[in-house]
Amino acid sequence: MISRAAALAALMFLTSPLAAAPETAPAASLRPVARTLVEATLVEAPDPAPVTATATGALDRPKARPATLDAALGSPDSGERRGDIPAFVPEPAAREIALRVAFAARSPLAIPLSLRPSPRSRAIVEKALAIRRERARGAVCGDPDLQGSVVGAVPGRISGCGIDEAIKLRSVSGLKLSTRATIDCPTARALKTWVERSVKPAVGTTGGGVSGLRVAASYACRSRNNQPGAKISEHAKGRAIDIAAIRLNDGSEISVLGDWGSGSEGRILRRLHSGACGPFGTVLGPDSDAFHKDHFHFDTARYRAGSYCR
Ligand SMILES: [Zn+2]
Repeated sequence: MISRAAALAALMFLTSPLAAAPETAPAASLRPVARTLVEATLVEAPDPAPVTATATGALDRPKARPATLDAALGSPDSGERRGDIPAFVPEPAAREIALRVAFAARSPLAIPLSLRPSPRSRAIVEKALAIRRERARGAVCGDPDLQGSVVGAVPGRISGCGIDEAIKLRSVSGLKLSTRATIDCPTARALKTWVERSVKPAVGTTGGGVSGLRVAASYACRSRNNQPGAKISEHAKGRAIDIAAIRLNDGSEISVLGDWGSGSEGRILRRLHSGACGPFGTVLGPDSDAFHKDHFHFDTARYRAGSYCR
């Protein structure tokens, strides 16, 4: 225990500003140039260590002082600290490495020397670019999260029906639609907002997470609720989508018809219903009328009074 405390104290001292070289010292010292034999004899060497001449007549380069940290930290087995803080302070990079090596030798949990990351291989880069191209190709409304195809103008059979710029939406933020939805871009964007702000957080990991949406209806040239004499529906303008269920990764679903008002699935559906209020101008569910007991109706018609949610 003593040796570990001493080791820690020494480590802290070495990494502290106190241990840094004095201000006059250079930031990084160069490797010393080998002295000639003549120079060596002229210099008053404070180090009594013998110098050895090589065959070329030059002197050996000074060796890096080994185990500087070991000297400061003491051996893990010795149970005591050996020596004082060394006067020699290695340059920052060398000290960093020495510290890590010393630390790694003492703790099995320490991260060993980390290698410089290697550049990504060409294959990985190409794969990523291919995915990006694929997403860009299927993107509609200028958003890669909205995947589908551009339809363009959809003429209505009767006055009041039709869409100026329609798309067929295949998936939204990675969630597959059970049938492609013919809608306009503002409605597709509202659906994305609902999926990201409400569906994904509300479902969470239930059933392995949400995988898709069961779409009951999108574009249809008809009156509201198919009632004769009623006003034309927002569905007839491409501004509405009906969602019957949330599909989950385990193959099950949370359905408006089966789960509204009961259990944890019912609570999720409540959150999805209220979360749609805002992104969409009109939100209708089982509590609104008998026509909506098996699906949510969402549309982007805007009212002066704000969103209408029942
Ligand atoms: Zn509807």
